[in-house]
Amino acid sequence: MSSSVEQNSHTVAYVVSQELMKASSLLPSNKNRSFLVHALISAFRLSSLEAPQGHKLLQFLRPIRASFKDLSVYHSRDYLEHVLDTDHSSGSFDGSAVVTTEFGLEDDCPSFKGLPDYVQLVAGASLSGASVLRQHKADIAICWDGGRHHAQKSHASGFCYVADCVLVILALKRPVHTSSDMSSLLPCTRKPRIMYLDLDLHFSDAVSQAFHSTNSSTSPQVLTFSIHYTAPGFFPVSPLSKLSSVSSSVFDPFSHSLPLRQGASNQTFARIWPIVERARDIFEPDYVVVQCGVDGLAGDPCATWNWSLGGGDGSMGWCIDRIIKEWPGKKLLLGGGGYNSPNAARAWTYLTSIAMRQPLSLDAEIPDHEAFPLYGHSFTLDVPAGNMQDLNTDEYLAAVESSFDDIFTAMRERMSKP
Ligand SMILES: [Zn+2]
Repeated sequence: MSSSVEQNSHTVAYVVSQELMKASSLLPSNKNRSFLVHALISAFRLSSLEAPQGHKLLQFLRPIRASFKDLSVYHSRDYLEHVLDTDHSSGSFDGSAVVTTEFGLEDDCPSFKGLPDYVQLVAGASLSGASVLRQHKADIAICWDGGRHHAQKSHASGFCYVADCVLVILALKRPVHTSSDMSSLLPCTRKPRIMYLDLDLHFSDAVSQAFHSTNSSTSPQVLTFSIHYTAPGFFPVSPLSKLSSVSSSVFDPFSHSLPLRQGASNQTFARIWPIVERARDIFEPDYVVVQCGVDGLAGDPCATWNWSLGGGDGSMGWCIDRIIKEWPGKKLLLGGGGYNSPNAARAWTYLTSIAMRQPLSLDAEIPDHEAFPLYGHSFTLDVPAGNMQDLNTDEYLAAVESSFDDIFTAMRERMSKP
């Protein structure tokens, strides 16, 4: 319940409800993952930790259910009428195959019972997280059920049916006006800036496309930065997934794409991380939205990168720790891909403890709870690296650095325009 979140800068708002878990656990690509994630966080009793002042460090936030109007801020009416049709989701919908294809509800995005609830609750969950940040009720919000970065305006894609990432960025862009806020009567000094950082193995095609513009006269309010794997035929196919370059015909200095090759390890992430932080320094975001997809971690069935949860500089935990402790602005952490569900639960539990500035030990044993047997063989929190070779050579990474040097020059030029 948003009204129950205390106004304290060290509070982490954690979006969850039984209704959300139930709906999210029906997602065909991630059956029961939501149950596992929330159950593990509960088993580690993170919600019982208190600040010295006596308030809970992790405050549960019951999500709103996004209305048709909330969803239509981005999605098309036709798409929403189709995915929110309850007859359709129960399997008795009399829709033609042509219509189903038109909206992408096939192959990896089949319609499923509970789809209308899923769409409304997941969008509502991420929007609830954005809302507490906008209302200054928390500096950090977490919605592990969100982060659906492939869903498009009128098309489901890549296990994603609702564009919650785009919806929250659009919500955060809006100035906050309240009747008691005198500042709303004053001239607006600066529109809120939002940096969207995507750590999922897959390119954030739908989010990057939604905010991509080659019009150099528009004022930059959103920066998208996707770190991902790409190769011919690898999902999602997009002209924007290649390494950003100022010489590209689709170049936008506020749409960054940094593909990493197979086997990307902590060492590679540590090497490229200064690029991410330079983008942040130039852009000076008021809000940072981080899509924390965990399908790039070792042990995921995608088996493409060799990233680990902890283990020093460049690990996923290290990246999120830096964002939490050293980055300015309010942060919204979202979920995303991750097809080894116990590992996704491990990762998001650990990242939650980092967001709370109470990091769990990676050697911590999985507490006894109903899902305990799924955490074998290690029965610990860690998601360690495997043996895959890191193909991100020094030569490749130097080319990436060089390309971003030029991009940042272009970015600074645009930022200096009135
Ligand atoms: Zn992914």
